Amino acid sequence: MNRTSPMMKQYQAIKEQHPDKLLMFQVGDFYELFFEDARVAAREMDIALTSRDAGSEDPIPLAGVPIHSAEAYLNRLLGKGYKIVLCEQVEDAGQARGLVKREITRILTPGTITDPEMLEESRNNYLVTVVDRGSDYYGLAAVDISTGDFQVTEQKGEGAWENIADELYRLQPSELLCGSPETEQLCRKQLALKQGGLIEQLTYIPEQQDAKKLIQGQWDDHTWENLDLEQYPLAASAGAATLAYLQLLQQLPVGDKHFRRLNLYFTNRNMIIDNVTSRNLELTRSLREGGKKGSLLDLIDRCVTAMGRRLLRRRLELPLIKKKTIEKRLDAVEELLHKPLQRKELRNLLADVFDLERFCSRLSYQRINARDLAALKKTLAQIEMLEYKCREFDAPLLKEITGSIPDFKDLHSLIDTALVEDPPLSLKDGGLFKSGYNEEVDRLKNLSEESNTLLLDFEKKERERSRIKSLRIGYNRNFGYYIEVTKTNLSLVPPEYHRKQTLVNAERFTTEELQRMEEQITGAREKQAALEYTLFEELRSTVGTYTEQLLSASHNLARLDCTQGLAEVAERHGYCRPVFSSGKNMIVKQARHPVVEQTGFERFVPNDIHMDRSQYLLVITGPNMAGKSTYIRSAALLSIMAQMGSFVPGSEAKLPVLDRVFARVGASDDLSRGQSTFMVEMQETASILKEATPDSLIILDEIGRGTSTYDGMSIARSVLEYISSDIKAKTLFSTHYHELTNLEGDLPGVKNYTIAVKEKGRQVIFLRQLIPGKADKSYGINVARLAGVPLEVLIRAEKILYELENAASTAGGHQLSLLPMVSEPVSDYSRELDVVEQLKEVDVNRITPLEALEKIYELQKQLLEYEREDAGKEPD
Ligand code: ADP
Repeated sequence: MNRTSPMMKQYQAIKEQHPDKLLMFQVGDFYELFFEDARVAAREMDIALTSRDAGSEDPIPLAGVPIHSAEAYLNRLLGKGYKIVLCEQVEDAGQARGLVKREITRILTPGTITDPEMLEESRNNYLVTVVDRGSDYYGLAAVDISTGDFQVTEQKGEGAWENIADELYRLQPSELLCGSPETEQLCRKQLALKQGGLIEQLTYIPEQQDAKKLIQGQWDDHTWENLDLEQYPLAASAGAATLAYLQLLQQLPVGDKHFRRLNLYFTNRNMIIDNVTSRNLELTRSLREGGKKGSLLDLIDRCVTAMGRRLLRRRLELPLIKKKTIEKRLDAVEELLHKPLQRKELRNLLADVFDLERFCSRLSYQRINARDLAALKKTLAQIEMLEYKCREFDAPLLKEITGSIPDFKDLHSLIDTALVEDPPLSLKDGGLFKSGYNEEVDRLKNLSEESNTLLLDFEKKERERSRIKSLRIGYNRNFGYYIEVTKTNLSLVPPEYHRKQTLVNAERFTTEELQRMEEQITGAREKQAALEYTLFEELRSTVGTYTEQLLSASHNLARLDCTQGLAEVAERHGYCRPVFSSGKNMIVKQARHPVVEQTGFERFVPNDIHMDRSQYLLVITGPNMAGKSTYIRSAALLSIMAQMGSFVPGSEAKLPVLDRVFARVGASDDLSRGQSTFMVEMQETASILKEATPDSLIILDEIGRGTSTYDGMSIARSVLEYISSDIKAKTLFSTHYHELTNLEGDLPGVKNYTIAVKEKGRQVIFLRQLIPGKADKSYGINVARLAGVPLEVLIRAEKILYELENAASTAGGHQLSLLPMVSEPVSDYSRELDVVEQLKEVDVNRITPLEALEKIYELQKQLLEYEREDAGKEPD
């Protein structure tokens, strides 16, 4: 074998069509990779790199994996962002004359996976396409072929790119196609993608007429007109380019209802949550861990089905702005909340429903086996019971859901009469169908079953005839049926026996009669297997005609699951139903931060939120760690939860319907995007000033922190002034700039709050209670003490602070004071230092345990005494 062998030529020809992908080339029972692909595969999959023609001067690098265990390897490569071409033998190697025929059977890319093993259950897997016309007009298509979800949108004018960027954050594409190098650059930056990876440029972007043809070909003739796509050429172009790409990958189920409908959407038809806000509020990902764990989504996800989980994520990312629809969702949650027993039954039934949505996708691609159909049968039975159960409910949404679940009795009985209860995984070996389903299968099955008796009779007859008692009939894969005679009896073997195989102690024979029987038996088995395969294909395509109903059921089950999950959360954490006020007030009693209250180390202290016409801009001061961020974020989280149709963590909540929520955090590090911290902070603030409306909620956490005190304070102040007079959006502003508390009374809407703390000796106790007014101390050093900063450093810090404050007062107060710090330096740490010195002197190698204990006792006593003295000096 060398580079010019027929097989290598065949390989090269296919590789040339897909130079950017790894070509896995079937050779017998293996997928083999050659040349550079082999090196990549060996490195990424941790397999041996060998070579073809090892002895030759120029051996071909080779790596291979057995086909039967290829799935895990494919997963690994896709997970790392590689694209894979599977090229398989399409004729029986034994019967091929010359070179075996091979064809590309599948092209796998990270964005086009349908195999459930490779997919995360609770998230969609999106292939996203972004096309552009200039720098302020974009079209976007997002398709999840594992669920059939196909959406397009377009954004025009100022802020168009920012909106697309928010969508990219929300969709978290597994694969991204771009219409131009400029867009590719922007996307790369937005998703912090390195060179290469999951992003590439489109090779073909259809013109309007071709886009129309592609879209009409995939859906129906009316789609174009119904969605008025003539008016949205970039949305259409992104959608059509995606279709063309899928066609190229052979991943488009032609003439199929898989992509149920084309969904044209606009981001401003929901509450807008930009990507910075989503990140800062940790809606779907936690800042610390980066994953779902620790996020709001994780907390409220009490769904029991995969479809429910995916829908819940979408609802959280796209809360509603229509009061009527929100109320409808809330009614349903409320009913389920108040009917815990029925809810439990519902949960139990739903828990046994499998991922119907992804099943439908695999059905469209004909990638299901008999076990999948058996699982579908179970799910159909669950659906029937669910539908029956749901009739007990009165909430309109629950009624609507029940009413839209189709009747699957026919489909259930079709599968039930066809398939055995526990069918084998392989479709090629028969054994799939129940007796009575097909006469011919039954006949062939009987034939091969009868053959056992026939063989036993034959064995008995031959034993008697030859008088060889130990004669036995056996079977093996390579030689088929044989008569085995031990060596000692060879003299008795009848003359018409033909030798087949010689073993150490025995010889194996056949006869014409046995051969005839063998042909009959294996013939029957093969025929049965082939017939069953054909029947299965028929069954699969009949099931395929139910796809639309199945998808509709899947959607309704997802809604039901989301609703029961939210009721479950509301009950578990004691949430209340929000009320949407017709005015614009936001009044919450006993509001809590849903995540901190569950994960914090101390009992959560609830606080009220009160914002109305006269106080819509709350300036919140207080020491570090007091709970400012937690408080202001809880206002945003409550609103988002309410508008997605969930109950909220509070005892009473009157809320406005918000059009947008902004959450900005000062000085957040964003080095990955190569921008200075302050620049990022200002860009983020600028976007609020441009886009916020009186119906928005703005959360500003320590804005202005990323620059020098003067700059930061001035910017913070002018931002507040602008919001107060021009935007009038509800705003919660936490700050350590004490000067900003002077705005109350001067600026309309501004009201000061602080989070109370209590001092005990040198300790600060956080009360977590929001009270009107302003903080009078910073307590920074006390917090440092709590955090375990060494004593010597604390003492030095206090000295510096004292000097600074003195300097400021002698200089006529020109120096910005931040918050006035602890008024007198508590410089009397000298006694504690003495304890430290004593500790340093202990020689741990010589001291006995008893002496050590005595020493600790003595030192501790000393420290406690000092503390008592201090407490006596300071007023409580
Ligand atoms: P700040 O923004 O004032 O520095 P944070 O809001 O980050 O303070 O709160 C610091 C910590 O205090 C939080 O991580 C949380 O554990 C706790 N905390 C905050 N608010 C409360 C509260 N209302 N009840 C109980 N613990 C709280």
